[in-house]
Amino acid sequence: MSPPCPPSPATFPQSTPPSSNLLIKTLLTPITPQTLTLTTDITHLTTSFKTRYFRSKSGREASIWVFNRLKSIITLNPSEIGGDVVNVNASVELFNHSWVQPSVIAKVVGGSNTTIVLSSHIDSLNLHLPHFLPAPGANDDASGVAALISIFQIIISSNPPIKFKNTLEFHFYSAEEPGFWGSTDVFSSYNKMYRDIHSVLQFDMIGRIPPTNNKQKENDNIQKSKGEIGIVNDFLDEGFKKYIKLIAGEYTGINTVDTYCGYACSDHASAIRYGYPGGLLTSGKLEDGLAREDDVSHTRYDTMDRLDLSLITEFVRFGVAWGVGLGVADIRIDNRGGGRVEDGRRGYLCDNGYPDGFMGGVRRFSAARAADPLGIGLWILMLAVILGIARPWEEVPIVMKMGRMVRRGVRRGYGVLVRREEPD
Ligand SMILES: [Zn+2]
Repeated sequence: MSPPCPPSPATFPQSTPPSSNLLIKTLLTPITPQTLTLTTDITHLTTSFKTRYFRSKSGREASIWVFNRLKSIITLNPSEIGGDVVNVNASVELFNHSWVQPSVIAKVVGGSNTTIVLSSHIDSLNLHLPHFLPAPGANDDASGVAALISIFQIIISSNPPIKFKNTLEFHFYSAEEPGFWGSTDVFSSYNKMYRDIHSVLQFDMIGRIPPTNNKQKENDNIQKSKGEIGIVNDFLDEGFKKYIKLIAGEYTGINTVDTYCGYACSDHASAIRYGYPGGLLTSGKLEDGLAREDDVSHTRYDTMDRLDLSLITEFVRFGVAWGVGLGVADIRIDNRGGGRVEDGRRGYLCDNGYPDGFMGGVRRFSAARAADPLGIGLWILMLAVILGIARPWEEVPIVMKMGRMVRRGVRRGYGVLVRREEPD
């Protein structure tokens, strides 16, 4: 049993220094939804794989596709330094788990091992029958995956290349849906390796503006809502939140809004579990999205046509500013409450467990279940099979007595209204 991790709030810059400010603005100027690859990336993720369920073959293929996509960005972006063609210290690798779908980790190596993580999750889930039913997972979380691919592309395509003081990592986790299994493996292993992780910022469900909001606005003759950056406040450190607001205010065209998930919520919770500061961004207020009757999370209806690409583009702007701003800053990691030092590296072996209220996720699940009529039917059939009422695979001898008449017959296993005759 590992000891709990001492509290270790990250140190964030108080402002963006003029040098990085200029660099970030140069990178952000050309960005529009049309200059990014959001449309093609989300289309591919949501239509080329029937589901990205973490135990499925197509879930594995989706991870391999993300890996190859990042690899192609790296090889397309060699920069000329001193006549030699080198890539900008960027690399990508698979992180394998005990199930078929790997996580994917891309890296931009800087001058120190202090690492800033931007993250999302590849897997999707159809809650009703995950092995069989489609799960496009456009908002959850193809939106986050596509945004991170774009952020990575913009950062490593910078010309001249950015000289990073710190290391950036882009995480694309497997198996968020069953309870953050992929990210648990990743951060458990980072903890054992005494990795200096400055902070982890997860982008999950960042593409949706609730439709009735728009309708209200249309009725009021006000311009369509541009959406908001939802800052999930559960377990979030104050300094972390302040820096999120600073970056959003300076580099995006939309507002931030405080929101609460009520439970561990997403993969950043795995970072917190192993002693690393974690935060979560989402589109707007989760309270508005998940409690609504038009919530399509974890169903076949979480499709690309419900996403707002200009909203995701704002998250891309945010992510570029976040990564570059922290990547070139003088940030230090506190001694993490006097954690042990081994091989000259700071760190410790520790495990906080998941925060209280982890099972609050059930609330989200029941909202999703109600959205899919086919799913409800299949659930009822499954329940009937489990209770032994229906056995479609069995031929059941039946006897029906109506007054003095006796009818004997065989029926394929729906035993609700018939009595079974035990063999003599
Ligand atoms: Zn998600």
